[in-house]
Formats: sequence, C-alpha cells, structure tokens
Amino acid sequence: MSGYIFIKEYMTGLGVDLIRYFVFAGAPFLLLYVIFRSRLVRFKIQQKFPEDKHMVREISYSLLSMLIFNLVAVSLFVLARHGYTRVYTDIHAHSMVYFVFSIIAFIVAHDTYFYWSHRFMHLRKVYPYVHLIHHKSFNPTPWATFSFHPIEAVMQVLILPIMVFAIPLHPLAILAWSMFQLLLNVGGHTGYELFRSGFTRRIHTRWSNTATHHNMHHRYVTSNFGLYFNIWDQIMGTNHDKYHEEFEAAIARRKEAAV
Ligand SMILES: [Zn+2]
Ligand SMILES: [Zn+2]
Repeated sequence: MSGYIFIKEYMTGLGVDLIRYFVFAGAPFLLLYVIFRSRLVRFKIQQKFPEDKHMVREISYSLLSMLIFNLVAVSLFVLARHGYTRVYTDIHAHSMVYFVFSIIAFIVAHDTYFYWSHRFMHLRKVYPYVHLIHHKSFNPTPWATFSFHPIEAVMQVLILPIMVFAIPLHPLAILAWSMFQLLLNVGGHTGYELFRSGFTRRIHTRWSNTATHHNMHHRYVTSNFGLYFNIWDQIMGTNHDKYHEEFEAAIARRKEAAV
C-alpha cells in the first residue's frame, strides 16, 4: 500500500471525524448556547456561560485530538485489511447475538479503561503534564468533548487497538461504539441536566452517569471519574459527597424557573 493511499484514507477519515464533531457538538451548542440560551438557562448546571476564549481552546484541542485519533484508526484499518486484527467483515462469521454482545462488551471495557486511565491521569505527577488541558474547561461546553493534551488523546484512543486485538469486532460494531461514545461524551459536556429527580438514586437508573456528574468532575477535579456508568465510582467510593444533592439542586432550580 502506497503512502498516497494512506494519506487519502487519512484525509477521508479526518473529514468524517470533523463532520461528526461539528454536527454532534455543534447542534447542542447552537440550541443550548445560542438559539434557546435564555429560555433554557434554567436547565444549566452552572448558571454562568463560559467566555469565548474557552470554547476556542476546546475546539483547537479537539481538532488536534482528531488528527491523532484518526492516525490510529486508519493504521488499524490497514492492519485489519491485512488480517492482523480480529476485525471480521462478513457479518455472518459470528451470530447476531455475538454482534450485539460485542458492542456491549466494547462499551463496558471502555468504561473500565476510561475510569482507571482517568485515575492515572489524576496522579499528582501526571496531572499537570497531561490532563490539565481537559480541566481548563471549568465550565465545559459540548466543544470540550475531545479537548485533550496530545498525550491524553493517545491514551484515550488506545482502547481501540486494545479491543480490535482482543475480541472479534465487525466494523458496524466499532461504528456503533464510536457513535455511542461521541453522543455520551457530548452529553456529559453540555453543562445541562436533563434527567428527572431521583435518577441518581433509583435502583434501575443509578448505574448511569449524568451531565451533573461530569460537570462536577470539571469543577471539583478530585471526584466523579467515571465515563458512561456510575459503577466504578460507587465501587471505589469516588463519587463526590454532594453528587445527589447537586443533582437534585439542578432539578429544583429548573422547576422553580418553570413556575
Ligand atoms: Zn470532561
Ligand atoms: Zn479528569
């Protein structure tokens, strides 16, 4: 395979990534921060809006991260084409039950990988050199979704090679995970709480994270490390003491403003 084809595939992949980022982070930004800004402010977790310079930084680092993500993804794509990974293209090579299982396994593995790599990045000796960039967003917006230092971007994307070498994955399963992580990441950074009262305590919903959870992580830094699920934070006792309280306060504010 020539370098020309690699560059062509890289540029195509990058184009897709950019469109996805600007559509899926741009749509909530346009709705929540521009068009319905004053009408929906009651849903906002932190009542203030960040200055433009913070959003410029969030977008700039997200663009840099996408250059890195795409380099890894296209390299894996080449390896997969030559049969070096466990990616399978014939969907009938495994059952549909396995196909669904592989997506769930990917999401659960990513959640675990994220929690522990995130804890690692919060170690005193690592934090200022790697993760601080993401935490410069004290009051994050949807643009902060991929706002990482390049070293963190490499750490974040490592889950992809781990998974394509670990278990058989169909490209559609990878796409499903990729869309899931994008939507959940954008959701966690919108700065708006949309769930209902009791969500963080009810037995059938308390395992899920909320926008308040990640927003508090950006504000308080030393708690709330989880990604999709609130399982590792519960097991390790790293939920913020006031998590439920702040979640309910955001809901109460919303209700008061609606009266
Ligand atoms: Zn974040
Ligand atoms: Zn963090």
